[in-house]
Amino acid sequence: MKQEKLLRRALEDNGSRVTQPRLVVFRLLQEHGLQSIAELISRSSGTVDRVSVYRVIELFEKLGIVRRVTIGWKYKLELSEIFLDHHHHITCLSCNKVVAVKEDEKLEKVIDRLADGTGFSLSSHQLELQGHCKTCRERSTTLQSS
Ligand SMILES: [Zn+2]
Ligand SMILES: [Zn+2]
Repeated sequence: MKQEKLLRRALEDNGSRVTQPRLVVFRLLQEHGLQSIAELISRSSGTVDRVSVYRVIELFEKLGIVRRVTIGWKYKLELSEIFLDHHHHITCLSCNKVVAVKEDEKLEKVIDRLADGTGFSLSSHQLELQGHCKTCRERSTTLQSS
């Protein structure tokens, strides 16, 4: 379990331990990917209580184990780039489906160059992409033509 070793290290480097609630939340994030706090709470119910989920997420955010992905005015959580390859997300405005977009070297270079132009050294970035997925587009065409 390479990922759990990384988790242990991230926690121990900051004087924290791997506890049962922390491991449960971590495994849910591994298994289900991007999800809201509410989804995490419902998935861990019976094992970890709500308050503990909030505490774990607060700690994970502080230590850079999870990151927030902004979707409109809300956000979801996923494991940080310690655990996942760099990627972006695209959200469907009709059905709220979120799809991961693979890393694109050219795009990353453009972003670095943009930051260079401002004299910033970039430590991280997020892109927010929104639109209508194929399923929703097809559905709206069908509705219009019938
Ligand atoms: Zn859709
Ligand atoms: Zn990127």
